[in-house]
Amino acid sequence: MNQVEETIKALRAALQEHNYRYYVLDEPVISDYEFDMKLKELQQLEALHPEFDDPASPTHRVGGGITKAFDTVVHDHPMYSLDNSYSREELVEWEQRLQRLLGGVEIAFTCELKYDGASINLTYENGVLIRAVTRGDGVQGDDVTTNVKTIRSIPLRLQGVVPERFDVRGEIILPLEGFARMNQERVENGEDPYMNPRNTASGSLKLQDSSLVATRPLDCLPYGMVGRNLGVDTQMEMLERMRGWGFKVPETARLCPNIEAVLDFLAEWDTRRHELPFETDGVVVKVNSLQQQQELGFTSKSPRWAMAYKFKSEQALTRLEHISYQVGRTGAITPVANLQPVLLAGTVVKRASLHNADQIAKLDVRLGDMVFVEKGGEIIPKITAVDLSQRPPDSTPVQYISNCPECNTPLERKPGEAQHFCPNDTGCPPQITGRIQHFISRKAMDIEGLGGETVELLFKEGLIADYADLYTLEAEQLTPLERMAEKSATNLVQGVRESVKIPFERVLFALGIRYVGETVAKKLARAFRDIDALMAASQEALMAVDEIGERIARSVLDFFANPVNRELVERLRGYGLQFSLSAEQLEGQTDLLQGQTFVVSGVFETLDRNELKKRIEDNGGKVASSVSSKTTYLVAGANMGPSKRAKAENLGVPILSETEFLELLGEASPGA
Ligand code: AMP
Ligand code: ZN
Repeated sequence: MNQVEETIKALRAALQEHNYRYYVLDEPVISDYEFDMKLKELQQLEALHPEFDDPASPTHRVGGGITKAFDTVVHDHPMYSLDNSYSREELVEWEQRLQRLLGGVEIAFTCELKYDGASINLTYENGVLIRAVTRGDGVQGDDVTTNVKTIRSIPLRLQGVVPERFDVRGEIILPLEGFARMNQERVENGEDPYMNPRNTASGSLKLQDSSLVATRPLDCLPYGMVGRNLGVDTQMEMLERMRGWGFKVPETARLCPNIEAVLDFLAEWDTRRHELPFETDGVVVKVNSLQQQQELGFTSKSPRWAMAYKFKSEQALTRLEHISYQVGRTGAITPVANLQPVLLAGTVVKRASLHNADQIAKLDVRLGDMVFVEKGGEIIPKITAVDLSQRPPDSTPVQYISNCPECNTPLERKPGEAQHFCPNDTGCPPQITGRIQHFISRKAMDIEGLGGETVELLFKEGLIADYADLYTLEAEQLTPLERMAEKSATNLVQGVRESVKIPFERVLFALGIRYVGETVAKKLARAFRDIDALMAASQEALMAVDEIGERIARSVLDFFANPVNRELVERLRGYGLQFSLSAEQLEGQTDLLQGQTFVVSGVFETLDRNELKKRIEDNGGKVASSVSSKTTYLVAGANMGPSKRAKAENLGVPILSETEFLELLGEASPGA
């Protein structure tokens, strides 16, 4: 093996280990930064040496592969569903049935929580993940391998001795915390929040861009495996074996020697489930012995040896009166069920979410139906089923709207997205007021004296049609409005006037460019320094900015390609808003290092590493993580790794000391 190959292999092994410690054991031993540096080094080496490609390399976790259409794959072993039971009595009856079938022997069970996500089949060959397929109809599903490889808790290569070829079955879930974080980011970026973790998890698997999947905090919780020579005799051993190979098997599974112990498990988790970091809607009880499982076999739909027990969630039966459609500020349409008011878990429920057109079709809810409403993890209750016995005889399936309820524009639906959209972003009222509300929000222009409801009022009264109009408001126009005292009117106008001092990066965020959240706005402002440079930037120039990918770059281009938006910018500029970095922000910023790439390594005396990097960036230079032929200088401090130095010397990259670096900027270090 030559040296490069050895380095590559060592990096892969180290990254695999650190990944496992972080995402499966939750016990990291190195910092995120160190991890990223190692990963970048591996990426660069792999790019230079494609001959050492490995489908199990940790670099696949970053994504990048695009799947235009997912191939249909027939499962080696069908993926069954589970029989459900809703009461302890039913479960006891099931156990008695099993007793009869097996001839009166003792039956031990494994109880696992029922994870609420999307099921996945992972095929491993010689210890390497070769394919990941969704359950689909149970016989065949979609090949989502590229996307699944980005899920950090799924081992790409297994540890230890493994069967030659076998399948692992598990559930892809979005933990509650990650889901909440994703939604918070979406709201900040001006996007509508996702409805629930389960749909978001299964939707994520079908995204075309795997690098997008990589940004979602998905997890995989395995619950079984199929194949030959698995080397285990019980379900419990199966779970332990998978854990040993590097899977994140929840510790909540328990071996229950008899049905009484199973009932205890159910009672315990009925309350404790709320402590879990993910959603569960029940328990899956499985006969522990694989020998007994084999004797029991399958019905056409499900294994006889397993039973799902659904936790009771409080539910109510009521009539669906009509469906209304809400338009979010990004144009996303959400259907809402308007119900005959009913008492559920202590509150009167009048509305329930229907999520999207697919959900309506799946439930086949119709106007006038009696429907079951439940409160799950979500804030608004949802409809879980229709009581068909009470369906009005003349009912017809719901026709989903084809035009926007607010502006009548024909709706659009992008491939792979569940939601319909109103594309009329500049003329659709809730989208307009939504954008203005974002503009005035705390992290954006933070306009004092103006709130969301007032925005709606001003819009309805025809006083504002976009956010630039705010700057034309006069107190005299406002006082005739309902609930607008003279004092509030002057405060509002005053607040608007003051907002012209808000710095460029926040103005940029306030514009409401899709995917340009607070952080991205900061990065863009720093990189381009003023709006003219930003508006003139090409896609390449945008993507050259740290952490700006194609999706964001496109969105920025689209935004400024629209004359309506350009005019808004010009008007705002006319009203005196900040469209460039202030002298203060620009202080210390030069173009001295333009076009130069630096690698920083070791420990420094006068500046710490982050200050040094900031200094490089402030002066127009770029910081890279590892030395390559593209490196202009290696800035070396004390205790720098010998491999970096050797590499720089090999490639003829000049090495600078801290003092030499400061001299490059025309500064002398204080000590020198
Ligand atoms: P159902 O979709 O109701 O028929 O339930 C079957 C599905 O439950 C399987 O396809 C799995 O995706 C999912 N599931 C979640 N947790 C488990 C578990 N611990 N054991 C087996 N299946 C599970
Ligand atoms: Zn509309």
